[in-house]
Amino acid sequence: MQLYNKLSAEERAKLIRDAGEERLTISFYQYAHIGNPEIFRNYLFVNWDALGVLGRIYVANEGINAQLSVPAPNFNAFKEFLDSIPFLQNIRLNIAVEQDNFSFLKLKVKVRIKIVADGLNDATFDVTNKGVHVGAADFNKLIEDENTILVDMRNHYESEIGYFEGAITPDVDTFRESLPIIENDLQDYKESKNLVMYCTGGIRCEKASAYFKHKGFKNVYQLEGGIIEYARQIKEHNLPNKFLGKNFVFDERRGERISEHVIAKCHQCGVPCDVHVNCANESCHLLFIQCDSCKEKMQQCCSNECKEVIQLPIEEQRAMRKGVYNPSKVFKKGRSEVLKYKNEPLSLNSKGSIIE
Ligand SMILES: [Zn+2]
Ligand SMILES: [Zn+2]
Repeated sequence: MQLYNKLSAEERAKLIRDAGEERLTISFYQYAHIGNPEIFRNYLFVNWDALGVLGRIYVANEGINAQLSVPAPNFNAFKEFLDSIPFLQNIRLNIAVEQDNFSFLKLKVKVRIKIVADGLNDATFDVTNKGVHVGAADFNKLIEDENTILVDMRNHYESEIGYFEGAITPDVDTFRESLPIIENDLQDYKESKNLVMYCTGGIRCEKASAYFKHKGFKNVYQLEGGIIEYARQIKEHNLPNKFLGKNFVFDERRGERISEHVIAKCHQCGVPCDVHVNCANESCHLLFIQCDSCKEKMQQCCSNECKEVIQLPIEEQRAMRKGVYNPSKVFKKGRSEVLKYKNEPLSLNSKGSIIE
């Protein structure tokens, strides 16, 4: 029995092209008690591989977090399979706004300690005491209330290309880093303000809202289904869209356009641009924003050093990758001294007016 992906991305892309089928990009998550994540993982892999499902899925004792693509003709069989698992029955599936048959090129189901790296010790607070879930219509009303503080629970490279009007977008590289920063910045407003939070698909807010309630915030709300579900609801019910720009997503598409605003800049020349790329030098692989003309000029590299590296014979490049050679000294996503035009995140200070 095959339990792991064996095809390369190129081989898979060819298969998808040859099959000529539409694929649906979907995400969902569920907190649930899973006794043996390893067995559950193998069960998912065997069944989903048979249905041609591709994607990145995390399984842990605390639940499942899945981002995947399903061949459209197999969607009903996929849904029936989910419904056969008690804690996934009738689960809400977030369907991508912009479809792309090549959003995922491998099926990777991984067992992790947690489905989101939140750094929290769940035993120290009640994770089920969550914030109030609100849909798009109520969310729009709430964020217009002057007693509301709106916080983006995502990382700097995500909010850089899109966010809700008036949101605080913390300058963080990881979710776990954001929790104490937000608590500290907002400590004077624990009782007086509504704390409204959102993320990509809702999963990060599930635990963050419980954490902030535990820390003494009285009025905590979270956007149900995140930006993905918000975008669907405003379309379906013809509601005003308060989201500017693109929703960053963690697949080959990198982002879904929600409004026509381009709020970011090419990190190399500063023209309006919100397209993320990874540096073509595999040993660097920096995620950054690059316009078409810089992409051509720089051969999709983040720096001249990286551009030199990719001219080397492939064997030499491979040898570099094995070492720790890292020409632009990049250790974090989207951050490098060579990139001159990165947008500053919107902090509490820069948005002072929304607080009083
Ligand atoms: Zn440029
Ligand atoms: Zn680079």
